Amino acid sequence: MKIIFIGAPGSGKGTQSREFIDKYGYVQLSTGDLLRGAIIQGSDLGILAKNFMDQGKLVPDEIMIGLVKNYLTSQSEKSVILDGFPRTIAQAESLDLMLKSNADQIDKVIYFKINPQILVERLTGRRTCTNCSEIYHIKTKPGKASGVCDKCGGQVVQRPDDKEDVIVERLAQFEKNTGPTIEYYRTKKTLFEIDGMQRPSIVFEEIKKSLGLLI
Ligand code: ATP
Ligand code: MG
Repeated sequence: MKIIFIGAPGSGKGTQSREFIDKYGYVQLSTGDLLRGAIIQGSDLGILAKNFMDQGKLVPDEIMIGLVKNYLTSQSEKSVILDGFPRTIAQAESLDLMLKSNADQIDKVIYFKINPQILVERLTGRRTCTNCSEIYHIKTKPGKASGVCDKCGGQVVQRPDDKEDVIVERLAQFEKNTGPTIEYYRTKKTLFEIDGMQRPSIVFEEIKKSLGLLI
């Protein structure tokens, strides 16, 4: 089963991906996490991506498509959640071709719908573990010890792109590029919309139901 989680920054894709990893053994392909890993390693990809990410811009399609192609060919796991890819129509079309050549396909696209006004509050208060990507929030989900991840003991920080001016640009990119990508999946009838403003446990139940998971 291949599932796409799509939605604005901060709409809850990463949080829900982690639930599906923990409870159902899904593998998460988070392009944002891959890029942040590359930045920490100081690789060529990381150096190039950092420029775009720090400004809230999208990393160019050719680079992202190459990255995902490598990932999908290097691992045989069938149950994958794609979180943060595709974000443009060009990425969606390339993904279709990649999967087709493997007799595979996207089973469902979950669209996390959310009111843009609440995203700034969610994102400016968000803190992220640099080691395992666990997500915290200074008000709604603080960790036990400040700056330390409850799960892995890693360092918990504010992402450079979770600052207000960068958030504004990320939201603009979402409208411009990812909005049309959502419509692309709507015409293919694989799109399932979820109200991302509900409590995480309710969002989780709704996604489960949409995937036909009963327990
Ligand atoms: P959230 O972490 O709340 O889901 P987000 O979706 O904006 O927010 P990431 O998915 O972590 O955050 O992506 C962070 C940045 O990485 C993006 O702003 C962009 O610069 C780059 N990036 C990640 N995935 C892609 C992609 N598929 N195409 C282009 N750029 C990408
Ligand atoms: Mg994310």
